Amino acid sequence: MTDAQTTCTTCGALIRQITADRNQGLCVPCDRRAAAIPPDDFKLPFELLERIEALGADPDRFLEMTWRDGVSYTLGFLEKIEESDRLRDHWAPILLAFAKQCRLDAPPPSSAALAPRDLAKLPIYEASIQRSERLPPSRRSEALFCSIPLLAIPVALRCWPGDDERTVVLTPDEWDEWRKIYQHPDNAFWWFAHVWWRIDDPPDPDAPGMCGKNLTLPEGETPWLVTSGLSWGALAGGWTTELWSWNGTSARFVKEVGRAYS
Ligand SMILES: [Zn+2]
Repeated sequence: MTDAQTTCTTCGALIRQITADRNQGLCVPCDRRAAAIPPDDFKLPFELLERIEALGADPDRFLEMTWRDGVSYTLGFLEKIEESDRLRDHWAPILLAFAKQCRLDAPPPSSAALAPRDLAKLPIYEASIQRSERLPPSRRSEALFCSIPLLAIPVALRCWPGDDERTVVLTPDEWDEWRKIYQHPDNAFWWFAHVWWRIDDPPDPDAPGMCGKNLTLPEGETPWLVTSGLSWGALAGGWTTELWSWNGTSARFVKEVGRAYS
């Protein structure tokens, strides 16, 4: 089978020749964008406008979708948003009460009470949180879970994203607990996003993506795995894992060992 390649005439991405032949020289994303540009006089039908405004959304966001995929497609999409909003309205107050109770049951330790080994993790968490991607504004109405070990909860509250009232901070165990209370329906749009940070000390060799990774360090050093991740849909998001070293008095970054984004 031949697999001749060429470049997209719009963005220059390397693509297969058969893709170019099918799409007038364009890659799939460029072809979809080209097909999605509606003429200037294209207007959304009234039935769509009404629904979009009831959701408090910007009608312009739906122009391209409706032009490209049709009115009934956009109607189906709006129904999914409405479903997600209903789930959020029902579950968000339950979630907030759950998170509040978690902190009453388990207040985070003060940094003065931490051993040097744990204290050394706080600046690593802080740098990781500062680097994390902020969610796009179109997802503003969602709840935003942060899960982070108990000792680093004060860091997360201080650094992420500060005064954002959507934020719910839980430990990884509490997040697992919440997922037993709330089972998200298959195929429903997420009304929440999940951001997490974790330092595995010691690393779990069976963690996703860790299989076959070389975590060997010089004599006297202990490996830590520092992971930060984000997901805002069943298939949207990703994670990064770094190898750090602890020598008994200080921690240092060694290398990135894993990364996956969709
Ligand atoms: Zn392209």
